[in-house]
Parts: sequence; C-alpha cells; structure tokens
Amino acid sequence: MAKATRVLYWFRTDLRVHDSPALHAALALNPEVLYPVWTWDPEYVFSHRVGVNRFNFLLESMHDLSAALTTRSPESRLLVVRAPPQMAIPALCRQWKITHLVYERDTAGYAAIRDSEVVKRVRALGGTEVLAVHGHTLYDPQRVVAANHGKPTMSLASWRKAAQGLPEPERPLPPPEKLPPPGDTDLGDAFTRKNQPIGCDTDLNEDTRETELHCYDHIAGPNNEFAIPSMDELGLPPATTSIYGGETEALRRLDAYCRDKVRVATFAKPKTSPAEFDPPATTLLSPYLKFGCLSSREFLWRVRDAVDEYVKSNGDAKKSKPASKPPENLEGQLLFREMYYAAECAQGINFGQVRGNSICRFIDWKLPNQYAADGSKLVPRPRGNAVDEERFQSWKEGKTGFPWIDAIMRQLRLEGWIHHLARHSVACFLTRGQCYISWERGAEVFDELLIDWDPCSNAGNWMWLSCSAFFSSYYRVYGVKSFPEKFDKTGKLVRKFCPELAKFPDKYIYAPHTAPIDVQKKAGCIIGRDYPMPILDDKLEKERCISRIKMAYKKGYHGDHEAVLSERATAE
Ligand code: FAD
Repeated sequence: MAKATRVLYWFRTDLRVHDSPALHAALALNPEVLYPVWTWDPEYVFSHRVGVNRFNFLLESMHDLSAALTTRSPESRLLVVRAPPQMAIPALCRQWKITHLVYERDTAGYAAIRDSEVVKRVRALGGTEVLAVHGHTLYDPQRVVAANHGKPTMSLASWRKAAQGLPEPERPLPPPEKLPPPGDTDLGDAFTRKNQPIGCDTDLNEDTRETELHCYDHIAGPNNEFAIPSMDELGLPPATTSIYGGETEALRRLDAYCRDKVRVATFAKPKTSPAEFDPPATTLLSPYLKFGCLSSREFLWRVRDAVDEYVKSNGDAKKSKPASKPPENLEGQLLFREMYYAAECAQGINFGQVRGNSICRFIDWKLPNQYAADGSKLVPRPRGNAVDEERFQSWKEGKTGFPWIDAIMRQLRLEGWIHHLARHSVACFLTRGQCYISWERGAEVFDELLIDWDPCSNAGNWMWLSCSAFFSSYYRVYGVKSFPEKFDKTGKLVRKFCPELAKFPDKYIYAPHTAPIDVQKKAGCIIGRDYPMPILDDKLEKERCISRIKMAYKKGYHGDHEAVLSERATAE
C-alpha cells in the first residue's frame, strides 16, 4: 500500500489562500493531512526591531488566515509554534511523520540563510521531501539574476532586459475550496532536551539556545493550543495604526481601489500627492504585499483588467486621458519591487548595509554603522558626534523644526505607513539633503516603524535616495518648504500630525519660525517653546552635503570599506 502523504505547510511570506502557488503545489500532492504551521522565529520576535504596528498587522493577518483555513476544513487552523524554525520544523517533521515540507520560497536576506539551514536539518532526518515554490513576486528573482549573468539589476531597464525572456506572470490561481485536516498535533517528546533535532544544541549560538530552552515550556503556547499570541501576551502596548491586517482586508482594499477605473488607468506616481492621507493618493497595499496577504499577481491582473476596461470603454474618445505607462503607472510600481528583489538576490545578505555591499558607493556619512573585525555589526555602536546624534534623534522623533519632515515622521510612527514621496523627503533630508547621516541609520528606523518593511525594497530605496546606488543626481534635493507646497499649500498633513501648528496661517505652515511673533501668539504656538526651532540651516547644509558627495563620487569607492579605511590609515 502506498504511504499516505502528510504535508507540513509552512506559512511565512504568504498569509493568504488566494493565488498561492505553494499551497496549490501542496494540495496537488493529494495529502491525507495538512498541518498549517507558523513558527515564531526569535530572530523576528526578539532580535529584530519590529514596532507595535507591524506586530499588530501580523497578528491580525494570522487570525484572518486561520479563519480562512477553518472555513475550508473545520478542523484546520493556523498552528503557531513558538520556537526557532531551524529547531521546530525538523522536530515537527519527525514527530508528525511528515512526508512533504512545502513553503513559498523567500530569497531575501536572513530568510534565505535560515531556510537552507532548515532544509539541511530536515533532509538529514530522511523521509521528508522539501518543496520550496516561488510565489512572492511576479518573477522568480533567482531566474532574473541568472538571466542577468549573476549581476544585480541596477535599473528598471536592466531588470526588464533580464526578465524579458522569462515567462509572463500567469493569471492568479483561485483559492482552494477545501483543505485536508491536520493530523494529530501531539508533540510527544519531540522537543525534550534529549530528543532535540540534529545539530540544534551545537549549531546555534548561546543567545538562540537560551531562547530554545525558554521555548521548551511554551512550544505550543501557554495552554498547548498552538494559539496565535495577543499583543498583551507579547508584552507589547496596543497598536496605534488605523491599517487593519489580513487577506480579507487586502482584497477589500484592492476591490475598492480598482472600482475607479479612471484612477487606476491614469495613475502616475510622481503626480500622486504625499500630502493626502485620508484616503492616501496611492493604493496603500504595500503592507499586504509584504506579508503576502495579497499576491502580486492578483494585484497585477486586477490592475491590467481595469486598464483594459478603461481603454475599451473610452474607445475613440479623443478627449479622455490616455492610460499611463510604466514606470509611472501601477504596473510600473510593481516592477520597482521586482527590481529590488532581484538586486538583493544577487547581492545577498549585505544588501542592507554599506560594508561588503558591492553595489553601494562608499560615502563618508556621519554616524555610520560600526563593525567588528569578523564583519558583524557592533551593538550598541560607538556614538558619533553629539550634534549629529541629536539631529538624528530629532529626525526620528519628528522634532526637527521643519513641519513637513516632522509631520511625515510622526505619521510614520503613528500609522506605520507613509506615501512614497514622503519617504523620499525624509530619507533625502537625513542623508544627502541636509544631515549627511548614514542611510543605514534611517533604514533601521524604517525597519522598526514601517508595517510594509521589506529587506529588499527598504534597503534598495534608501540606497537610491542617498545616491549610494541606483540613482546619482545628488544635486537634486527636496526643498523642505517648496516641495510640499507643490502638492498642498494649506498644509493638511502638518495640521493633522503636528497639531501644535494647526492654527498657523497657510503662508507659514511649512516654515512657522519665519512667522512674526504676533502671528505665533495668535496661533497659540511659540516657536522654540511649543514647537522646535529648525535644527539646522537647510540651505547651507544642502550646499555642504552636495560638495561632500561630489568629493565622495570623485573617489568612487564601492562598498569597499577596507580600501577606504586603509587609505585613511595611510593618510594619517
Ligand atoms: P503604490 O504606489 O500603490 O504601489 C503599488 C505597490 O508597488 C506597492 O504596494 C509596493 O509593493 C510597490 N512599490 C511601489 N513603489 C515601490 C518602490 N519604489 N520600491 C519597491 N516597491 C514599490 N516599500 C516597501 O514595500 N517596503 C519598504 O520597506 C519600503 N521602504 C522604502 C524606503 C524608502 C526610503 C523609500 C523612498 C521607499 C520605500 N518603499 C518601500 C517603496 C514605496 O515607498 C512603497 O512601496 C509605497 O509607498 C507603498 O505604498 P502603496 O502601496 O500605496 O504604493
């Protein structure tokens, strides 16, 4: 008699049931049982800087997914296992006699390294096949990199050239109607010390071992129910965002956005206003794409269909606006995501830092990250100049005295999402625009506060904005007053997120320190007392930044810290 197929489906970047190639591959095996598992990776939970809004979004998405699983099989639900996947997945495969481990492939950063360790351990057990299926992006980054001769895709043009020979993204797959139930979830002694999976005790470092030991008591949660933890249980305060997680909400938002065919078809990113927040001028679907609550193919085809309908219904109408094209249109936005994924996939784990990152120009930023001799990041890193540290903190807290920058940084903290051009503004200000502080520091703050934080898109865009890679027009700096005025002269975003400035007349809303004292008094806000004076002279610092970057460009170092450091040592 043929051995029954027993699948462990490992959910990670795909918190959905619609258009999931990996879930379809699992179901194509015709399994008798399917265990839907989420492992609570301590790298994510304890070591990463995940802010409350991202955590909350994740938990909501997990609840929504669990409900979708139960709808398809009354016995099914998301089984949350509180242990490092390197340890948990092999232990569960052995305990539950799993014949196939299936998951959506993740090519990004830490995840790729973690997964190869998990696979190594599972294979060492014998008896379990592993299926890692592409599905998080439109094109498989590994295939794009291969087509680009192993090199990172450094522009949309190079990405397109590499992708053109690859199959076009297919139409999305429907969600499965039914799922097999999970089998017996008894853990037996799978996680007792004597029965640890191969390599666990020796391969993991001291910190992780501590976590492992802690996890032994709670592997299936406090009541052994594999339950999704609450914010309270995780020791986190309530979220502050109004953005709600989950596949149901993702599809609702996509539906709502695509209902307006004119908006979809004529979408032109540079014209969308970063000052709009309720609703925002773009789709606000990035958090859902990040956690895989929304498939990128679903997004792509819904947009394409909406554009087709628009074009057809407008027929020969000469007066109607033509549909926009990549890179400005919505499809073009997805292509930027693809470009960064492929670039990261080629560069590898150092994509998120300057050191050892072959695509990143070396610029002599202030407050750079410090590294130990073995290349690991030093935490806490030695502090830089006190003035720079103060500027960095003011930027992070939204207290620079520049209302446009402060409103955006406060929106980021409160909501966990900001418009793309708002990200441009604050990233440019921190790095090459005014403060000349390393993009690594800014990227870390985004890592903590963004719900949609993603190792490829975040680091890639920070390199772009700081002119460290992808983009080099360092003399084009966003004005802290002139740029927002192009979109909104009334200062809506400032009035909302910096309420102390709400009563200033439009004329002064982006530069309240220039308002006469009687205007300040009338607005009920004295600059320097109720709201900070600007932390720097933006025009002077802009000129300084430009000339420093110009010098750095002349030297032309690329991610070669050793060369820079040894040149400095020789000069000294
Ligand atoms: P839309 O304009 O509606 O675009 C649709 C989708 O296309 C987005 O949801 C997103 O998945 C993708 N997209 C659009 N622009 C980009 C882009 N430039 N790069 C990559 N993908 C893009 N995006 C992230 O998803 N995660 C990040 O961590 C992230 N960090 C960023 C850091 C900086 C400094 C900057 C300048 C941009 C960053 N972005 C990041 C890219 C972009 O700002 C967001 O994807 C976008 O603003 C999300 O809003 P939306 O869903 O309304 O986008």
